Amino acid sequence: MSKKWGPCHPERLSQSQKIVAFGKTLHGEIVFAGDFNLLPETESFKAITRELKLQNLNAAFDVTSTRTSLYEKPIKCADYVLTSPGISVLDYQVLPDEVSDHAALMLDFEIPQTASLFAQLQREVDYAEASVTGKRVACIITTDVGEEFAGHNTEEQNPTTFHHAEHSALAQMIRIQPDAKIARLTLTGSGRAKKFKHVVPCMSCWEKLMPFFKNTSKIVLLLPHTFDRVITFPALQLQALYTPLSPSVIAAKTELELEYTLLQNTRLNARDARYVAQVAEHVQQLGGRCFLTGSSSGRGGIHEFLLSLTGDEYGDIDLIVTGEHLSIRSVEEVIFPLFVRTYGCSTIERRNVFIIGTTEQRFISRFLSADGSAIMDLTIGPSIDIAMMRKEYLRYQWFHEVIYERS
Ligand SMILES: [Zn+2]
Repeated sequence: MSKKWGPCHPERLSQSQKIVAFGKTLHGEIVFAGDFNLLPETESFKAITRELKLQNLNAAFDVTSTRTSLYEKPIKCADYVLTSPGISVLDYQVLPDEVSDHAALMLDFEIPQTASLFAQLQREVDYAEASVTGKRVACIITTDVGEEFAGHNTEEQNPTTFHHAEHSALAQMIRIQPDAKIARLTLTGSGRAKKFKHVVPCMSCWEKLMPFFKNTSKIVLLLPHTFDRVITFPALQLQALYTPLSPSVIAAKTELELEYTLLQNTRLNARDARYVAQVAEHVQQLGGRCFLTGSSSGRGGIHEFLLSLTGDEYGDIDLIVTGEHLSIRSVEEVIFPLFVRTYGCSTIERRNVFIIGTTEQRFISRFLSADGSAIMDLTIGPSIDIAMMRKEYLRYQWFHEVIYERS
């Protein structure tokens, strides 16, 4: 830091910005201490505490001088200890010993377990490798005696093999503590893993973990990237999540009746229900079949389970359209104008998704309204099996078939 004590020297501000930029690269908790040569009311100082969310302990503990009697000038606040929110401060003191014109500062602190757990997860996420899906996932198993085992996912390109985070953590636990039970399984992610649903244990992991869970075991999901939302649920609830459902059909004779039945049996709001009813009718005129799946369907599965925990609304409408001779263009030509009419000015994004390990392809068209209030993902395939190949939706019947019965 510059030795000059000006109020808001541009050079000081830029030094502060460098500290802020560096601080933001750090994971975990921060204790930032030293002789700053700054007054607490300067923007250079405030930028550091504000941007890095640090607490100034001089202010919190009413410290007005960090100088000894060897310092004779009037302004006696030069040294600071700043701490991040996860640090629990037990004691902070200016010690009476006089060895320089600066007094010694003493901080007694603890990093509560949650904070160290978050930091450990962040490190583990950084180790994750997801060259195929881009979804990096990490987990920590806490056993019933408080031991912790961390794991992260890795993906191999050729041949494509996925190793899930839970696998490696569980393998270590079994090697070191074969008789342990899991008290808590904490998961999070980064990269293209952005939502809770991207880090919930898959069915294969669930089956491997199940023998090590007990009634009180918890699963804790931290929102990927930010960690600023946490959901916790009993591990055994995953059982219900992976139980197959019986097929569901929503059918009606008129468009209005179909719209009403959709409203009653799904999470769709009125406008979306009207739109899906119209799509079903038009798809059938093309000789195709229409399925509603995903979070808006309310049909169980990961989405529904997580929405019930978070209280969130569904974010998009997931439709599957199938038919032996349907081309993407022919389906879009019919459905897109309906979308524009319902939601206003809109765009289409198309993605071809190759199914890993096969030569099969899925085609996904995403319709977006200009104001962002409506998103529809349309998956098109010759049959429901191919359209939804490798998707859990199919296996567990997490969809409604929507049928417009022409009289
Ligand atoms: Zn898994």
